[in-house]
Amino acid sequence: MTLDAVAARPTVGGPIRLAIVGGGPSCTYVLDRLAATAGAAPGPVPLEIHVFDRAGQFGAGQVHSPDQPVTSFLNRIVGQVAFAADESVAGAGPLLDPAQRPTLLEWCRERFEQTGDPAFDLRAEDWPKRYVHGLALTDQFERYVRLLREIPGTSVHLHQTEVVDLVEETEHGRLTILAPEGPALTADHVLMLTGHSSNDPLGYPLQAQWAKFADAHEARFVPSAYPLEESIDAGQALPGQSVGCLGMGLTAIDIILHLTEGRGGVYEPGDEGRLTYRPSGREPASIVVFSRAGLFTFARPFNAKEQDLERFEHRGRYLTEPAVDRLRASAGQPVRIGADTRRQLDFRTHLLPLVVLEMAQLYYTTLFGPGFAAALERRVRPEYEAFLADGGAGASGDGSTRRLLAPLEAAVDEACARIDTVLGFMPASPATRGTPEDWDLDEVVDRFLLVVHGPDGAAAVRAALSDLAGPARVLRTLASPWRHPSAASANRFSWERTLEPIPPGSYASGEEYRTALLDFFDVDHRWAAQDNLTNPAKAAADGVWRDLRDVLGHAVDFGGLTAASHRDFLDVYMRHHNRLCNGAALEVMEKIRAAVECGLVDVTVGPLARVECDEQTGLFRVDGPLTGVSAQLDLLVDSRVHTFDAARDVRALYPNLLRRGLVRKWSNPGAGQPDFEPGGLDLTEDFHPVRADGAADHRVTLLGPPSEGVMFFQLGALRPNQNHHVMQDILRWLRGFWPTVDQCAALTTSTRSMT
Ligand SMILES: Cc1cc2nc3c(=O)[nH]c(=O)nc-3n(C[C@H](O)[C@H](O)[C@H](O)COP(=O)(O)OP(=O)(O)OC[C@H]3O[C@@H](n4cnc5c(N)ncnc54)[C@H](O)[C@@H]3O)c2cc1C
Repeated sequence: MTLDAVAARPTVGGPIRLAIVGGGPSCTYVLDRLAATAGAAPGPVPLEIHVFDRAGQFGAGQVHSPDQPVTSFLNRIVGQVAFAADESVAGAGPLLDPAQRPTLLEWCRERFEQTGDPAFDLRAEDWPKRYVHGLALTDQFERYVRLLREIPGTSVHLHQTEVVDLVEETEHGRLTILAPEGPALTADHVLMLTGHSSNDPLGYPLQAQWAKFADAHEARFVPSAYPLEESIDAGQALPGQSVGCLGMGLTAIDIILHLTEGRGGVYEPGDEGRLTYRPSGREPASIVVFSRAGLFTFARPFNAKEQDLERFEHRGRYLTEPAVDRLRASAGQPVRIGADTRRQLDFRTHLLPLVVLEMAQLYYTTLFGPGFAAALERRVRPEYEAFLADGGAGASGDGSTRRLLAPLEAAVDEACARIDTVLGFMPASPATRGTPEDWDLDEVVDRFLLVVHGPDGAAAVRAALSDLAGPARVLRTLASPWRHPSAASANRFSWERTLEPIPPGSYASGEEYRTALLDFFDVDHRWAAQDNLTNPAKAAADGVWRDLRDVLGHAVDFGGLTAASHRDFLDVYMRHHNRLCNGAALEVMEKIRAAVECGLVDVTVGPLARVECDEQTGLFRVDGPLTGVSAQLDLLVDSRVHTFDAARDVRALYPNLLRRGLVRKWSNPGAGQPDFEPGGLDLTEDFHPVRADGAADHRVTLLGPPSEGVMFFQLGALRPNQNHHVMQDILRWLRGFWPTVDQCAALTTSTRSMT
């Protein structure tokens, strides 16, 4: 397409033209805000909205497509999904009538009543299928489009086509949207909601090697797993073949379900109430899964916070935004970023100690109760304040963590000794005689017994406490339903064990690793079932890594970390984040356990596995250095979601924009170290791109993955009742956009009155 072919812009005084590139969930949320705010305007709103979606999946987008395999789950409970701003959203402006903005829960209930289809018979705490979310998104999108079309002066046009470029229109300073299959039109504002994409494997040395090997041999390489139904269709991964999944997160889980249930196999309750897998015979012979850690993402706990988010979501005691600011002041390294000077921190040295301290505090708050937690905090605070003031005084991350944890560990040593004395695990000593100074021993023992044994077990132990030999006798025969040890001293928090629940050296073969992983599944699944308010480990992971994500964003975003530390954070700590708090539902992980137990999913290569191109067989081979296991793979799937990388995106749009200088990559300048370019774009705080010449372009706004890099964790579906950041980002765009339409409205009115 040439510029000559571009349609002329509408006459001045015509409606404002908004082009939205990407018709997925973010677009649905945007249309809610446009419909509600334009609908509340007193007069006509001269607005022309054009939505472009390459797959024509308006509302759902490709990730949440209603047409995807029914085996994939949404990684959110039903009660945590919305499609519109609600009363909790600060500065939302007018809201739609509640009947026009059902949450996913309300939408499912209504759909169930209409159809009786059990797929929609969901409660707030259930995990929906992703296609169900897609159906609801599509419905809501259509509803918002209808509402917008009813507003005088406003029109909505949908284009199923891929936008490949934006071109500056020199005469009026507008942007022309180039889409080979669609109309060429100029727009006053372009909102880019392009979501997830894939990167060209040839841009990465290992992936390029695998792609070239697959081209020349029988082996097949799938560089990007989505859409699943296209990347691994019914003609691939055939019976007798072996599929390798590089990555053991949500993508690998989707693939396993796609190749098992999706091939007609059935997960069904077995003898012990646990799921077993009954194959259909259409599955591949094995699905070999491997990753650096050799662990699946941990099971998401039952979400007990949902009953009262305001009350139960964790608020940081130590890991807080003011604490991050104080560390910046005391220990930040000044670095020039654009026109500003930023005092950058090192994640391991300055922030990880706060993360681990916060987790430990929350762990013991859960295990011993709030009275003990308050006493613990009093003990910890002086060293914590000193740490914020001296910024760790040049110590290493491990040293800083040990320093911050020392007062906590001492207080917990004392508590454990006292509890274990009461329970008969330790003889009384001078240290455990008398009553603790600032906490109530009875209260702590009660809470400990409740967490470890549940109400009935706790009552049995309590009843035996009056008899000196009693508790130990009861405890000898009482197993914790969640496999917690009975002695308090055996229930200590450990960051290292949290990360490495199967220590290297505890297994010497693939079979031993498999047994250890199945045992870990057992513990992890029991802990998940115990819930995120009662299980100490799940409470700590969920409360810190999920509930305090905004604080992490405050620390990391816009060059908050040094270049080297930022690279380290994304490479190492994002993996920990994903494993600890962003895994799949327990019911999904029970299926994965069943697939491992039946031998179809092979975990025996273990951690640190490496893929080799085996010239002799023409197949890939994966070698596990810690287990000694090697496996041949007919099909290798890179089962990791690709991070946004503007230069290497397989689609034309971002490479073209980079070439034109309409956008540039964001770079974290390394003072004396190499710069770090995570791949995302240089954006202002209002999400406008900074062009190659350094000027911010207010005609364009980008939300979602292109901002990953300069910001941290921008992804996710909209949540209700939470003043959710996804909606706040949209409002930031809307506040900048509406004055433009107001100006346009005034112009139109004055033009009309003159004629
Ligand atoms: C595999 C996967 C699973 C996920 N699961 C969950 C989950 O369970 N829960 C959760 O909260 N979040 C999940 N996410 C995060 C996800 O980012 C959000 O849920 C949500 O999809 C974001 O919506 P979006 O509209 O910004 O982007 P997307 O959903 O990616 O939609 C963008 C749309 O834009 C289209 N598009 C892109 N480029 C162009 C172009 N140049 N021209 C025209 N159209 C274009 C795409 O085809 C797509 O339809 C998941 C992400 C992935 C990748």
